[in-house]
Amino acid sequence: MAKYLLKDLEEIQKTVNGRKVSLFLDYDGTITPMVGRPEDARLSSAMKEVLKGLARLYPLTIISSRALRDLKPVVGLPSIVYAGNQGLEVRGEQFTMTFDIGRDKKEELEGIAAALKGLLHGLRGVAIEDKGLTLSVHYRPLDTKDFPFFAEKFDEVLAGPLSRSTVKVIRSKKAFDVRPDVGWDKGRAVEWILGRPGFSGTFPIYLGDDESDREAFRVLKGKGCSVFVGGADEEADYYLMAQDEVKTFLGWLLHRPFSAEGLFSTP
Ligand SMILES: [Mg+2]
Repeated sequence: MAKYLLKDLEEIQKTVNGRKVSLFLDYDGTITPMVGRPEDARLSSAMKEVLKGLARLYPLTIISSRALRDLKPVVGLPSIVYAGNQGLEVRGEQFTMTFDIGRDKKEELEGIAAALKGLLHGLRGVAIEDKGLTLSVHYRPLDTKDFPFFAEKFDEVLAGPLSRSTVKVIRSKKAFDVRPDVGWDKGRAVEWILGRPGFSGTFPIYLGDDESDREAFRVLKGKGCSVFVGGADEEADYYLMAQDEVKTFLGWLLHRPFSAEGLFSTP
């Protein structure tokens, strides 16, 4: 059972003492508040300042379901690592990676997007976002009375691809993420980044609020520290009650004492 992070800062301090720490932060619902439409999720100027400060002290990755082309501009910090499309594409100053999902999976995703657009045409409150390597079907503004129709059509379209194991569906906050089933997820991406320059040998701290973040929590079990944003949790090491507590923790990290080698040190 996860422990409440802000009550256990001393324990975190002890765990990371003498180590080099790296940070992995989810975007929507973690460093930005959840909003009705994804395009309205803005990084506050205060959070951006905190991230700028953290990027000077820690290797930092922002990881998201958003495509890189969308994620990089909304964060807007030059010298950090971005992992988009749930880790299928990674860009940093020292390394870069795009997972080859293959032509078949690409065509399957295109077919799903086209079928959903056809069946859900005219239904207000549903947006199908084709992100190249994955799809997101957002339904936050959907009228609750329309949800059963939407869910039925969604299941109808996905039944074939799911039975062929070509895609996976990950439920996020008022959205379904459709990802190619290629054995790669946020967890694998975090593992990969932890083997790269700047991150290798670090103790990772990961904050996220989504089902897909749990893939990273599992990978980091015993090797790092996972924090679920949004209340008590079974799987993560720690939890925060709500998104607005993220800045409190990041602010704490920003003011930790460091040794000359960039390691945590006891005050
Ligand atoms: Mg999120």
